[in-house]
Amino acid sequence: MQFIDLAMQYQYLKKRIDARIEQVLSHGAFIMGPEVFELEHRLAEYVGVKHAITCANGTDALQLSLMVLGIKPGDAVFCPTFTFFATAEVIALVGATPVFVDVDKSTFNICPLDLEKQIERVIAEGKLKVKAIISVDLFGLPANYSELDRIAKEYELKLIEDAAQGFGGELNGKKSGSFGDIATTSFFPAKPLGCYGDGGAVFTDSDEYAELLRSFRVHGKGQDKYDNVRIGMNSRLDTIQAAILLEKFAEFSFELDARNNIASAYTEALKGNYRIPNIPEGYLSSWAQYTLVSEKRDCIMAKLKRQEIPTAIYYGRCMHQQAAFASLGYKDGDFKVAESLSRYVFSLPMHPYMSADQIDLVTQALVTNK
Ligand SMILES: *Cc1c(COP(=O)(O)O)cnc(C)c1O
Repeated sequence: MQFIDLAMQYQYLKKRIDARIEQVLSHGAFIMGPEVFELEHRLAEYVGVKHAITCANGTDALQLSLMVLGIKPGDAVFCPTFTFFATAEVIALVGATPVFVDVDKSTFNICPLDLEKQIERVIAEGKLKVKAIISVDLFGLPANYSELDRIAKEYELKLIEDAAQGFGGELNGKKSGSFGDIATTSFFPAKPLGCYGDGGAVFTDSDEYAELLRSFRVHGKGQDKYDNVRIGMNSRLDTIQAAILLEKFAEFSFELDARNNIASAYTEALKGNYRIPNIPEGYLSSWAQYTLVSEKRDCIMAKLKRQEIPTAIYYGRCMHQQAAFASLGYKDGDFKVAESLSRYVFSLPMHPYMSADQIDLVTQALVTNK
């Protein structure tokens, strides 16, 4: 059994993906070819925003967003401490200061109460200018955008949605990628919508941001890439990756349903035995991960491994505990919920092509070894 079976997905889509790749090899527009613009059009339409601008990966998508918002040294950018490193990394990369926030115990997403507390603390200290929030749709579940919108308005902060794991998720009928001022996603192969390499995208309703993003991703271009009006990056999505994504995207709704069915089957079999994921009313998860919390995690994972059932830990270390952020001066115990999750979470195999037998195998092993 695979944790995420990309080879099986390829078997289903092989003919179409191979044909699309061949088309690109024939027309030869490997950079910014027609498939890139076709994909951007489809993505924007699906997410329900005016602009989708693709780029080289989900990390660049976040960095480009911070550049568009003019985030700079002296600025405080708030983000959850329980996330993938890239969320916090890009804040430091543009010279600003990451300010970590604890997460909600039941959704694993940024905790609005602690966010307000951290904002007030930074304002009271008076050293940094509070500028923006990066919220993360962790494991596929959108963050609490009604509260986050309110807080962003109240403190005049920009809101960036990191939907690297959230693509396909929804909150009250609104799709992930449509929240905040700017949203980002990743097409890393293991994400809900993945390509066969690196890829990413930025979503926004703002014409001004979209124009800046199209410039920043090609060396800060003006009229063309030899007219450079600002310092940018080289961050484009390869045409071949766009071609692959177009075929995968055609199956995405089916795959999203399949992921939700697998998650329901897991939940049905595990409830009463495990603390199962909480999907609050009005939310739809894209199930990037199906994650359990157990104090006996390490023992359970070892037993499943003996039955050749793969599991994984996302994430075993919080941002405030990373060596790269040691200079920020955080210490163990600063974020109780996130630290406890980092000790006890583990994720189960999850991909749209899992069979009923595989799901049974996983849940039986979990119930036997709880
Ligand atoms: C994967 C991921 C990213 C980075 O995406 P890449 O395409 O790997 O650069 C950023 N944030 C979160 C929450 C992620 O899971």
